[in-house]
Amino acid sequence: MTYKILRRALCSSSYKKRPQICIVGAGPAGFYAAMHITKKIDSVNIDILEKLPVPFGLIRYGVAPDHPEVKNVINQFTKVAQQPNVNFYGNVTLGKDINLQQLRQHYDAVLLTYGAEEDKTLGIENEDATNVIAARNFVGWYNGLPSDKDLKIDLSGKTAAILGQGNVALDVARILLTPIDELKKTDITEHALAVLSESKLKEIYLVGRRGPLQVAFTIKELREQLKLKNCRTIWNENDFVNVEAVVPDLPRPRKRLTELMLKSLKEKQTVTDDSNISYFKPVFFRSPHKFLVDAKKNLTGIELVCNKLVGENLEQQKCVPTGEKEVLDCDLAFRSIGYKSVKADNDLALNHGFVENNNGIVEDTHPNLAKLYVAGWLGTGPVGVILHTMGNAFQVAKVMCEKLSSMDEQNRGGFEEIKKVISEKNANIIDWNGWEKIDQYEKEQGKLRGKPREKICSVEEMLEIAKK
Ligand code: FAD
Repeated sequence: MTYKILRRALCSSSYKKRPQICIVGAGPAGFYAAMHITKKIDSVNIDILEKLPVPFGLIRYGVAPDHPEVKNVINQFTKVAQQPNVNFYGNVTLGKDINLQQLRQHYDAVLLTYGAEEDKTLGIENEDATNVIAARNFVGWYNGLPSDKDLKIDLSGKTAAILGQGNVALDVARILLTPIDELKKTDITEHALAVLSESKLKEIYLVGRRGPLQVAFTIKELREQLKLKNCRTIWNENDFVNVEAVVPDLPRPRKRLTELMLKSLKEKQTVTDDSNISYFKPVFFRSPHKFLVDAKKNLTGIELVCNKLVGENLEQQKCVPTGEKEVLDCDLAFRSIGYKSVKADNDLALNHGFVENNNGIVEDTHPNLAKLYVAGWLGTGPVGVILHTMGNAFQVAKVMCEKLSSMDEQNRGGFEEIKKVISEKNANIIDWNGWEKIDQYEKEQGKLRGKPREKICSVEEMLEIAKK
């Protein structure tokens, strides 16, 4: 029996009584949950519905192109998707092609893992100015996210400011400061390479509200930044007053990170006449107050409010304004203060940008419908690396397995029923086979350019290739 026939047989009506699980979102949380469930329950059917025709969420569209080792988890996820009782259905959007109630009618359990797709805004004057860019869109642009492929970004100025001091902010800085010949070897999109190769940026500020002891980036990302070829890091010594004295009392990860910053500070790198050198300039204790613009609403600078810290616990100290202000002249600004989830379906309630839950269970008032679960950034809030997402997805999947094992047999129709609803609006559902065609095509295109892959950035083109 061929693999395909076996697969069809397993999904046929004689197997209907196996629990039917629907996972919405094919990012790490969705795949890790599917991995755990299929390990724990032999007789289960899992359908993963994904908005895009392609899987992997932020692994494909968030993780920086120069972090190929992080993307290796894709191999594990591929093995999960290739199991006969796991089905991928791409180009299916919750809230557009199907709603939550329909999913909960036809499955025994529904797990939402559709991530956090919007960025938080600052809510300050002139935030809509030309060249004030959301880091999220910039990341999507260089990674080939279809909705960001046409982002307009002007790199003809000398100075950029990144507002935020997390790992995404450091990704943005590194991509802007990495020599183009190194980026060319990655899977960064050709449109991004073309624009970045013309970049005139010479200095990048990384602006944070609080001090060096509260930065959100981690040591790996800082180390990479400090090692960048032809780039000098210039710290402000005044920002580090009293920092060295508290280092011995810091918890280990924070201690190592702070020691690295202090080591770099002591190197006292300076500005040179060499035009090949660019500069990375972290700035602390400053909050953006308003973007400054010219008559055409082009950015000219940022008015910053100076802060001081209050509170006992060093890592959790809060900042309060001192009343002082200053202006940072810049030609380009990136807002990198975090992501937030969207309400994909009217039946969902979001609080502070994520779906409230108790150990992954979403409490609601529909006892006759399938139980609803949430995992990943949609349930935890948009924080943490893949490892955290994995831990959370495993934990929620464990709760799901416990509940499923004690559940009465329901004999729900699963995707057979859902397909009837979807096909009224959308004839282009992409299965794993379709993704494999896209994957192969991208790898072939990449090979021609000496890259691991050249991503297709248009949904229409993806659909065409998948349907060939
Ligand atoms: P996501 O990865 O966002 O997956 C959600 C999926 O749901 C997506 O495929 C999306 O298309 C789909 N979806 C959205 N809406 C719908 C809908 N309505 N219907 C159906 N499907 C939908 N972690 C690391 O360990 N190392 C790194 O180097 C790293 N770099 C990062 C860089 C950036 C810029 C960002 C933002 C994060 C990075 N992370 C990194 C963190 C990591 O990406 C997250 O921990 C992880 O992706 C969260 O997984 P998730 O499944 O919750 O969400």
